[in-house]
Amino acid sequence: MSERKVLTKYYPPDFDPSAIKRVPKHLRPSGPKLQTVRLMAPFSMRCERCGEYIYKGRKFNARKETTDEKYLTIPIYRFYIRCTRCSGEITFKTDPKNMDYVCERGAKRNFEPWRENKPDNQHETEEEILNRLEREENEEREQMERDKMAELEEKMLDSKREMAIADALDEIRTRNARIERSEARGEEVALSHVRDEAEEARRREEQEDEEAARRAFMTAAGEKVKRLVDDEADGGTAAAKETAPPPSFARVKKPKKPFDAGLGIKKKPSLV
Ligand SMILES: [Zn+2]
Repeated sequence: MSERKVLTKYYPPDFDPSAIKRVPKHLRPSGPKLQTVRLMAPFSMRCERCGEYIYKGRKFNARKETTDEKYLTIPIYRFYIRCTRCSGEITFKTDPKNMDYVCERGAKRNFEPWRENKPDNQHETEEEILNRLEREENEEREQMERDKMAELEEKMLDSKREMAIADALDEIRTRNARIERSEARGEEVALSHVRDEAEEARRREEQEDEEAARRAFMTAAGEKVKRLVDDEADGGTAAAKETAPPPSFARVKKPKKPFDAGLGIKKKPSLV
């Protein structure tokens, strides 16, 4: 490598630079407005000569030119690139107004739906712009005023609610105070009253019990059922009753039922 580099820089003794017709690139006359830059394609496009697609982001060595056009003192630049297949020249410009680029020559920009639906401000005159801005400002102010009114209303409602709560609280307090006072004064009276009530309830219950018992011992005809013990004539049965052993709670073993009884299985009668 290094050898090659050295060799290429060899100038023979009879070298005459004026004999060269081709001017080296860096010495060619080019305006100060033109310079070579490395860039990426800012949008996808299709070459008009060969139909090659050049996708957004493809890198190019481009010539950058400062045009005389301006947008609000912002200079507009033009770039020259070459098609990757047919080397046809493609140019595009910056578009500061829409923060975009405009394809000029040699290629067609691909369709991009999000660009189609943008609000169309291109043909807006200055007066229209001013009007639009004014309208927007007015709307903003109205919105703010509406917000203020809403705030005021809310405050009013809040204070109303607070007052209602305070009233309710006051009422509860006075009632509590009244109850306390009455309790302190008439505690004993109340106590005796309670006792009276309890007695009354007990008496009523007893009466009810009695009534129930009486009804239980009456036959349907309204005759009193006689107790067997009272019957003197039938002393034998009474004695038998008396001698009956008292009920015992001891565990009594019951005879086991046959297992199949509960399951509805019937034993076949034996054939023998
Ligand atoms: Zn091409």
